[in-house]
Amino acid sequence: MALIAFIGLGNMGGPMAVNLAKAGHQVKAFDLSAEALKHAVDGGCEAAQSAVTAVAGAEFVITMLPAGRHVQGLLVSGEDALFNHIAPGTLVIDSSTIDVQTARSVAAAAAEKGIDFVDAPVSGGVGGAQAGTLTFIVGGTAEQFARAEPVLKAMGKNIFHAGDHGAGQIAKVCNNMMLGILMAGTCEALNMGIKNGLDPAILSEIMKQSSGNNWALQVYNPVPGVMENVPASRDYQGGFQVDLMYKDLGLAMDLSQHSAAPTPMGSAARALFNLHKTAGNGGLDFSSLIKLYKDK
Ligand code: NAD
Repeated sequence: MALIAFIGLGNMGGPMAVNLAKAGHQVKAFDLSAEALKHAVDGGCEAAQSAVTAVAGAEFVITMLPAGRHVQGLLVSGEDALFNHIAPGTLVIDSSTIDVQTARSVAAAAAEKGIDFVDAPVSGGVGGAQAGTLTFIVGGTAEQFARAEPVLKAMGKNIFHAGDHGAGQIAKVCNNMMLGILMAGTCEALNMGIKNGLDPAILSEIMKQSSGNNWALQVYNPVPGVMENVPASRDYQGGFQVDLMYKDLGLAMDLSQHSAAPTPMGSAARALFNLHKTAGNGGLDFSSLIKLYKDK
């Protein structure tokens, strides 16, 4: 069992750190929020006074932060940047969803100090983080992946090696752009059927058994009452927030811009989620996009 520093104990990082502790690892945890830190300590982690003290002597450092600027600031450029405190040979695993350029530049800064780094964003949401069933999508060398895998298995079910540094973030952003597009398409089709007199449950079943079948129809129907235990049937509370989908579609647009990869559907999905967010729905689950289509 390893000594692991875990920094960023929010909705995702908190339960992930607790699962590492439950698996028998010694987890030194830190968050700027005292409340988030307390939850992790209640779950079996040790409280560190600062990020710098958390990483002292750690074999692995895991970060789960909001965006690229937080990862860059904490590890590379901020006051007390952790790369000045982490011992050479340590493996740093960043599971935040961030832009590809930052992931690659942080990996390069780590290499200069003799520190190993992988980008390892996750899919599976807060439910997956709590249940320890996340999917990890890892970018790094084969050796770094082999080292990260046993630790990630304490927090996830499917662990993929997508390729070299940045590849984890690329695969994550491709997946979430696809998710945004398919949810928008599903809302559009269901709303048109409902407006023309169809029962949404029957229409959903027909499309599920036909060529329009997709993940939203299978497990995440956006129409209230069609499925139990989905955000649509609890006023779109919980689940994956519109704000986070909007963030991920922004990362997809950055990647499209940098690579000149055409993404007209991703761009349309981003515009739709932006309109929905601007109307005050940023905190709702992303399947609430169907509200945008309904007659007011
Ligand atoms: P969150 O806002 O709940 O948690 C982030 C935590 O980081 C906060 O507790 C904050 O206090 C802490 N933090 C920020 N800067 C810090 C610093 N310098 N030192 C210590 N702590 C610091 O966010 P979340 O929902 O846990 O998401 C984390 C990442 O995971 C994001 O990149 C998000 O896009 C990604 N993600 C989220 C979900 C989801 O469903 N919530 C799903 C997949 C991926």
